[in-house]
Amino acid sequence: MVPQSAPQALRAGHVFDGSQAHGPGIVLVENGLIRDVDLTGSVPPEHATVTDFGPDAWLLPGLVDAHVHLCWDAGPDAVDHVANGDSGALLDTARAAATTALHTGVTTVRDLGDRDYLALALRDQMPPTQRPEIVAAGPPITTRGGHCHFLGGEVEGADALREAVRQRAERGCDVVKVMASGGNMTPGSSPLARQYGLAELQLIVEEARRHGLSTAAHVHAAEAIGDVLDAGFDTLEHFSFLTADGAGLQHDLLDQVVQRGTFVSLTLGYLQGGELPSALAARIDALIDVMAKVVASGARIVVGTDAGIEPGKPHDIFPHALAQLAQLGMPAAKVLRSATAEAAEAVGLKGRKGVLRPGADADLLVVGSSPIADLGAITDIRAVYRAGNRLPRDDRA
Ligand SMILES: [Zn+2]
Repeated sequence: MVPQSAPQALRAGHVFDGSQAHGPGIVLVENGLIRDVDLTGSVPPEHATVTDFGPDAWLLPGLVDAHVHLCWDAGPDAVDHVANGDSGALLDTARAAATTALHTGVTTVRDLGDRDYLALALRDQMPPTQRPEIVAAGPPITTRGGHCHFLGGEVEGADALREAVRQRAERGCDVVKVMASGGNMTPGSSPLARQYGLAELQLIVEEARRHGLSTAAHVHAAEAIGDVLDAGFDTLEHFSFLTADGAGLQHDLLDQVVQRGTFVSLTLGYLQGGELPSALAARIDALIDVMAKVVASGARIVVGTDAGIEPGKPHDIFPHALAQLAQLGMPAAKVLRSATAEAAEAVGLKGRKGVLRPGADADLLVVGSSPIADLGAITDIRAVYRAGNRLPRDDRA
């Protein structure tokens, strides 16, 4: 990283600090960190380099996508490629995915399923200023032949599960991802079936905590949702309450989620006009009904796009996901909080990401108009800063 000689003062007519909106402000950035946030309208310090984005611009924290798959290319054969491609090709895919996400204003991603720990390799190889912060799970822990087994995380039995968690900690993973139920994209796997018993899920959480790792559970069916709640997972991925012919919310489980303050990572973001996978298409109305009720419940919600897994989910899908969360009934200011400060907490980076406050990383997004008046403004990007460095203009085709 090029050392910055003078602090930069970024000025805009409006500031969203990760929690609420303010009038004009100056964010002072030095050595990759936010040194000061001045909302008093005073002049920037004399020695600072000033960039003024104008009275209509909004300064906000960079966005946090709580659930992506960097190694997956979002093509029609994404599963085949990630299962059988060589590591070099997957790393190229991941590098392109990281670049794309960053140019969308997503400055932190949580990768919840790679192969061969390639998200960690990417984190080592790519300069931080050219990619989002990567919170990584490595290969998800799954049963033999279970959901996404082709990523290499098949583990069964108490001792092997403990060892798998230890291995992820030693490699440098931040979070342990467990396939607690089956999923749609793996032949032979059913989202309605549990993959592990409660005792196994509990020991995974216990071992993860011992090593300072957080925990994320992939869950669709209600039975599995009950188990992962009891086991104490930090984030619940999908949380769809899928049934044989649709989806059916269980209010007692949702009440528990609200009471415990467990984060729900709703899977949102799908290209309009894209064709939904058949399992999803048949259940889409029921799923939307479940998600709207989850939004209305007051549960702590973050957005996970599952970017990469299929053609409807390219690595620049995050703004679409935010629009969909608003359509489910969440006010724009709350959507922004969910995508910044709340998501940062959910992925284990509370206070360091998702907020404009002294000491936080200088990961910032500048847009041309109010995203609170119209969330679509989130795509009207004037600048993205990662660790205090402004991204060069996106001149890709
Ligand atoms: Zn996923």
